Amino acid sequence: MGYLRIENLSKHYGQKQALRDFSACFTAGIYALLGPNGAGKSTLMNIITRNVCPDSGGTITWNGTEIVRLGTEYLAKIGYMPQQQGLYNNFTAYRFLGYMASLKGLKRREAALEIPRALELVELTDVAAKRIGGFSGGMKQRLLIAQAILGKPEIVILDEPTAGLDPKQRVRIRSLIQSLAEDKIVIVSTHIVSDVESIADQVLLLKDGVLAAQGAVEELAACLPVGCPPTLENIYMQYFGDEGEAPC
Ligand code: ADP
Ligand code: MG
Repeated sequence: MGYLRIENLSKHYGQKQALRDFSACFTAGIYALLGPNGAGKSTLMNIITRNVCPDSGGTITWNGTEIVRLGTEYLAKIGYMPQQQGLYNNFTAYRFLGYMASLKGLKRREAALEIPRALELVELTDVAAKRIGGFSGGMKQRLLIAQAILGKPEIVILDEPTAGLDPKQRVRIRSLIQSLAEDKIVIVSTHIVSDVESIADQVLLLKDGVLAAQGAVEELAACLPVGCPPTLENIYMQYFGDEGEAPC
């Protein structure tokens, strides 16, 4: 299993600093990137997936080698579910995954093995031949997760996979994420605490482009006022609550 190391990464959009001096190291496990809208979560994910170019100065290495040197070898290790992604409503789920597999350069034989496996994992096998247009929000999100895991990526990046889903669907996505993470780096962004509280090995709190804190929930809870229950919700309030607003 590899490791992904990020050092001193920054990104400006004009005057706006979307990410400031971000450093972290990822090995197998679930990493929750938690922060309100505009915190820089998608920017970081776009940089890791090489869709956005960071400011000069920072580095990203995979097993010690800069990812720019690894080129497509690095990209093949990544599975990415972007925050905004169009789905082709006239495609069937199977055809969509076939299309995504070909974009990823999977051979026909590989795709024929991997697509059923991915469909199985996200529990869409029964509707594989149905058109996406008739899918519920939760089914669409699960299909997007399925495309992210085609090609056996070692790094899976899910940008707000539970956006717009009801609580029942969120639970389903949560256990799906858990089942992915055995031998992979899974980085999942959200602004909803309950999505990751019970499944994240590490939580990264991102505030105005700055990594405000990182650790397991128990570790982060050590900074809470005495007597305050050690929940991620309270930790979140501690960092993101309005001025003077105590977590409990
Ligand atoms: P999050 O995903 O946490 O909501 P983003 O990474 O999307 O945050 O955005 C971080 C900040 O960078 C926001 O202030 C956003 O408006 C700004 N930003 C993101 N992408 C762009 C862009 N392409 N052009 C200009 N500003 C951007
Ligand atoms: Mg975002």
